[in-house]
Amino acid sequence: MLRKAILFITIFSISIFSLEAQKKDLASEWEWFRALETRISTADTEDLLENKKEELQSAKDIDRNDIESKVSKELAFIHINKTNDLEKAMSLLIRALDIDEKTENEIALIFTYIGFYQLFDQVEDYYYGKEFLEKASNLLRNYDLPPLRLYINQKLGYTYYATGETGKSIEQHQNILHYANSERIPKVEADANTDLADIYANENEYEKALSYYKKALKTYRRIKSPIQEAECLNAVGNIYLLQNKSNQAYDNYVAALDILQNNKNAEAQLASLYNSVGRYYLKEDNPERALANLKLANPLAQSSQNQELVQETYALLSKAYKAIGDYKNALEYSELFKALEDFLQKEKNDRSILKMQSRYSINQKQSLIDQLELNRIQKEFELEEEKRFKNFLIIMVALIAIILVLIFTLFLVQRRSNSKLKTANLKVKAQNDELEDLNATKDKFFSIISHDLKGPLNSLTSFSGLLMNHTSSLSTEEIQMLAKDLDKSLKNLFALLENLLQWSRSQTGNIEFKAEEVDLTEMLSENKKLLEKQAENKNIEIEVKNTKPVSAFAHPNSITTVIRNLLSNAIKFTEDGGKIKMGVIEENKRYVVKIADNGVGMPKDVASKIFRIDTKHSTQGTAKEKGTGLGLILCKEFVEKNGGEIWVKSEEGKGTIFSFSIPK
Ligand code: ADP
Repeated sequence: MLRKAILFITIFSISIFSLEAQKKDLASEWEWFRALETRISTADTEDLLENKKEELQSAKDIDRNDIESKVSKELAFIHINKTNDLEKAMSLLIRALDIDEKTENEIALIFTYIGFYQLFDQVEDYYYGKEFLEKASNLLRNYDLPPLRLYINQKLGYTYYATGETGKSIEQHQNILHYANSERIPKVEADANTDLADIYANENEYEKALSYYKKALKTYRRIKSPIQEAECLNAVGNIYLLQNKSNQAYDNYVAALDILQNNKNAEAQLASLYNSVGRYYLKEDNPERALANLKLANPLAQSSQNQELVQETYALLSKAYKAIGDYKNALEYSELFKALEDFLQKEKNDRSILKMQSRYSINQKQSLIDQLELNRIQKEFELEEEKRFKNFLIIMVALIAIILVLIFTLFLVQRRSNSKLKTANLKVKAQNDELEDLNATKDKFFSIISHDLKGPLNSLTSFSGLLMNHTSSLSTEEIQMLAKDLDKSLKNLFALLENLLQWSRSQTGNIEFKAEEVDLTEMLSENKKLLEKQAENKNIEIEVKNTKPVSAFAHPNSITTVIRNLLSNAIKFTEDGGKIKMGVIEENKRYVVKIADNGVGMPKDVASKIFRIDTKHSTQGTAKEKGTGLGLILCKEFVEKNGGEIWVKSEEGKGTIFSFSIPK
C-alpha cells in the first residue's frame, strides 16, 4: 500500500516537472517559429530551400524523426510563403503530422497545425484553416505561452471574420484586447482596437467603430507610431464623412496630413489620405480642390504598387474631371480604371484557377489527414481511459488511507474508554470493598456492644446484688473480696468502653491525626512507668533497650495508645517471672518499635486473626485477665493512620514480638 502511494506521488511529481520542461520546450519552439518567419522573408528563397532539403535528407539518413518533422515544416512554410508550391507544402506537412502523432509530440503538433492553417489560408479555404487553428488552440490549452496564444487568437479573429462568424471574430479580438490591457502591451492593445474598429466599420456600426478607432489613436500617439496614428485619423475621417459630418471629417484628415506629409515611408498611407480628402471635396462640391488632392495621390499610389489604391485614385480622378467638365480626362481615367479592373480581374481569375488546382490536390490528401486525425483521437481516448483509471486508483488509495486513519482513531478512542471503564470498575470495586468492610465493622461493633458489654455488666449486677442482699451475713473480708472483684470488673468495662470509643472515633474520622515531633524512647519509658505496677504484680521485668532519644514525626496520642496496648498485652500473656524488652530500631526509611515478651505466644492461625475486626479473637491472660479483642485492631488502625505498618512474630510457649513502623 505504502509503496503504491509513494509510486503515485513520484509519478505525480514527475508529471509536474515534465510539464515545466514542456513549457520551456514550447517557448524555444516558438522562438524557432518566429526566427523562421524572419528568415523566410529575408533570406534568398533558393538558398534556403537548398539548405533545408539537405537538412531533411540527413535527418532521414540518421533516422531522426523529430528533426525530419521540424525540417519538413520549415520547407512547408517556405513553399507556402514563397514558392506557392502548395501541393509540396501539403505533402511535407502530412509527413510532419504523421511523425508528430506517432511520437505524441504535442508541441510539434501545434506548429504542424499552424502550417496547415497557413496552407489553407493561402488558398482562401478559411473553413479548413479555422479547423486547424482551433486544433492548435485546443492543444495550447495544456500549456501557457502568451505570445503564441496571442498569435493564434489573432489569426482566429481574422479567420472567423472571413468565414462570416463576426461574433466569434469580435470575441477573439476582445480577448486579445483584454490580455493586452492586463499585460500592458500597448501596441497589441492598439492593434486589437483597430481590428475591432475595422470590423464595426465594415458592419456599418459607425459609433462603435469610432470609439475603438479613438482608443487606438490615443495609444498610437502615446507610443509614437505616427503612421498608424495617421491611418486611424484617416479612418475616423472616413466614418465622419459617411455620417455626413464634414467638418469633423476634415479636421481628422488635416491632422493626418500633418503627420504623413513629412514621412517618406508612408506613400500608400498618404495616397489613401489624399484620396479621402479628394472624396471629401467632391462631396463638398469643390471639384477643383478635389482634383488637386487626387493629383497628389496618383503618383504616390503608383509607386506604392498597391493596385487597389491606384484603381481607387483613377475612379476619383475620373469623377473630379467630370465635375469640372473636363470630359476628355474624365473618360481617360475611367478607361484607365476599367483597364486596371480587367487586369486585376484576370489576375484574380488566374490566381483562383491556381488555387482551385491546389485546393483540389490538397483536398485529395485531406482523407490522409483525416485518417491520421482519427488515429490521434483514438490514442487520446485511450490516454483518457488510462488517466481515469489512474485517478480511480489514487482515489481508492486515499479512501483506504482515510478509512485506516478512522479505524485507528476509533480503536484509540475505544481503548481510552476501556481503560477509563476499567479504572471506574476498580474504583467501584474498591468502594464496594470499603462498604463491605464498613458493614462488617458495623456488625461487629454491634455484636461487641451487645456481647462484650453484657458479660461484665452481668457480673457487675450479680456482685452488687450479693453485696446488697447479703451485707449482714458477709464478713468484712468477704465484702472486701467482692468489692475487689467489682472494681476489677468495672476497670475491665472501662477499658473496653475506652477502646471502643477510641476506635469508633478513629473510624468516624473524629480524631485528627496531626503529626508532631515525638521522642519514641521517651514514650516507651513513660508507658513502662505507667504499667510497672501491673508487671510487678506478676514479677515481670520490663527493659527499655536503648535510652538515646529517637525523635520521629507522628501523632503522639495514637502512638502512645499503641505502645500501651502492646505492653499491656505482653504483661497479660507472660507468666509470673517473665521478661519484656522494648526498643526502637532505625532503618533507612523508617523507625521500627519492637515489644517482645517470653510469654505464652500464640499459634499461627491466631496471629493471622488478631488484627481483623471480622475475626476478632480474644483469650484470657496468664492471670485470668479478661480481654476485649479490640486492642490490636485499634493498634493497626492507629499505626496505619500514622503511615506505618504493624506485624507480629510469635511462637507458642516461647514468646511474642510485636513490631510497628513509623515512616521518617
Ligand atoms: P485482648 O487482649 O483484649 O483480648 P487484643 O486485641 O489486645 O485483645 O489481643 C487479642 C488476642 O491476641 C489476645 O486475646 C491474645 O489471644 C492474643 N495476644 C495479644 N497479645 C499477645 C501476646 N503478647 N502474647 C500472646 N498472645 C497475645
